[in-house]
Amino acid sequence: MKRDWLLLALDFGGTKLTAGLAASGERRWRAHQRVPSPPGSNAQSDLEIMMGLARDMLAPAKAPLGAVGASFGGPVDAAQGLVLLSHHVPGWEKMPLRESLEERLGVPAAVDNDANVAALGEHRFGAGQGCDSLLYVTVSTGIGGGWIVHGRPYCGADGMAGEIGHMVIDPIGPVCTCGQRGCLEALAAGPAIARHAQQRLAEDPQAGQALRALVGGEVQVVTARHVSQAAKAGDELSRQALDQAARALGRGIGSAISLMNPQRVVVGGGVAKSGPRYFEAVRAAARVTVPPEMTVDIVPAALGDDAPLWGAIALAENCLRAS
Ligand SMILES: [Zn+2]
Repeated sequence: MKRDWLLLALDFGGTKLTAGLAASGERRWRAHQRVPSPPGSNAQSDLEIMMGLARDMLAPAKAPLGAVGASFGGPVDAAQGLVLLSHHVPGWEKMPLRESLEERLGVPAAVDNDANVAALGEHRFGAGQGCDSLLYVTVSTGIGGGWIVHGRPYCGADGMAGEIGHMVIDPIGPVCTCGQRGCLEALAAGPAIARHAQQRLAEDPQAGQALRALVGGEVQVVTARHVSQAAKAGDELSRQALDQAARALGRGIGSAISLMNPQRVVVGGGVAKSGPRYFEAVRAAARVTVPPEMTVDIVPAALGDDAPLWGAIALAENCLRAS
């Protein structure tokens, strides 16, 4: 691979748009910009904003652009380069994003959904380097996942492999956004943690003083981030709410491990910033659900919020290698 090409990474998130520019072979950003997706935006307006970011970054660049990789927060047919839809922004239905990027930028492009792309990012540049098989799980407002098998992304028949968030953990559990009961997402994602803590605060007016203090007594505004913060400060109610979510996540990851026996599981997303105690609870729950001979290696993501963006750089690198 030529070393003097630039690679452009684009991350179309549900609420924000991020672009990064790196040189092939380099592991630092030459340029990096993140903007909120404005209220009332649609596919075309988001694409125009992204192209504006790309132009700003490329104008002062000395080397030529070699390829572009894009991460999309929604289902994607990666083989066709087609976005299937967005759950947040209208107008993305059956949008040929790869073709559109190739036309606009004049270089090869590749597109995939954010969980698959983040898995690729952690595998090539982060906590999964050197692993032959890897499950990446992101835990934030929702729960998603992506697989690396034999060093390559495994997307499944519909590009949907790794949808661990909608594995049923408790058939009589709370209703999920997808309509099923007791999905992992309904038990362990950020909103589930916040809801559980809010219920406990309402039930026991004396409990969770540190958590109450964080929100000025306004129980209804408690988020998973508050719970995580209070748990780190030793708040017992917050620790229990987080532990319960961690145990559900551990059971879900344990089932995935039993099925596929991956070398490592990397957990990213906002909730994964909850610290070592959270990870211990996840590992302990996973350990008891898998056969004793199986590896249970569950680690925090290394690339943080930039995992999809570095994964998009990996996609662009692949394009450059193939061209
Ligand atoms: Zn679900």
